[in-house]
Amino acid sequence: MLCTLNEVLPRARKDHYAVVAFDFYNDLFVRAILEACEEKRAPAILAALPGDLEGRGMDYMAAVAKGVAPSYSIPAVLHLDHAKSFDLIKRAIGAGFGSVMLDGSDLPFHDNIEATREVAAYAHARGVTVEAELGSVAGADLEGNDQGPSLLTDPKDVAEFVEKTGVDALAVSIGTAHGVYKSKPVLDIKLLGEIAAVVDIPLVLHGGSGTPDDQLRDAIRNGITKLNVYADIRIALNSGFGAAAGLAARRADELPGKMFEPIAQSLRKEVLKKISLSMSDNRY
Ligand SMILES: [Zn+2]
Repeated sequence: MLCTLNEVLPRARKDHYAVVAFDFYNDLFVRAILEACEEKRAPAILAALPGDLEGRGMDYMAAVAKGVAPSYSIPAVLHLDHAKSFDLIKRAIGAGFGSVMLDGSDLPFHDNIEATREVAAYAHARGVTVEAELGSVAGADLEGNDQGPSLLTDPKDVAEFVEKTGVDALAVSIGTAHGVYKSKPVLDIKLLGEIAAVVDIPLVLHGGSGTPDDQLRDAIRNGITKLNVYADIRIALNSGFGAAAGLAARRADELPGKMFEPIAQSLRKEVLKKISLSMSDNRY
């Protein structure tokens, strides 16, 4: 069934596990994610990135998620990831997204508060949950370009930000980066503990891909309740394509179900790995 972050994250926070948000692209991803989550009795977050919602993307992605999620017996959230514009947020809510992220991480502190507060008021009036970001998680952008260093979240700002904006979940910067790591990250678990001590809303970790498992588990034990994963899914997609290319070389008119199967299996394997890592299995 489709729901909002508030139906899955507070429960995860209480029981010290994380719900994984996978960015998806089409029905192949949605199917791999929802089937693996249902098999493991784990909640799912289907996240969509602004670039993929361009053109008819919003209609297609919302229609797929809304069309199939109700037939699964685990909760699933259709979530807008990294939106920078209020207009896009309004369109996503209109299309049926139950949750949105306003990424105001590159705004000055008070402008981030103002923009987030405005989005939260609009979304909450329509029963939609809101994630914001304080500090900034940099790394590589979606084209693979280096965005420079991240700015760690200052725990002194957190209580004021949460109180003034009314957000439901907060993405924090504690040492992860987007994309594929060039060197092994070191998460600042002490900083995370300080942040978790001053607010009681669920905290979100972006840049989950490629982070060593022991550090991710430590972060989850210390307050992370939503874990964003995309690069590892893209890597799984790529390796699935490799296997599919082998089939294509054998028969020119191979059946679509067979051609896509290695890709679906590769995605599924990665989703299962992340469910186990987040300790979100057997929760529903
Ligand atoms: Zn992110």
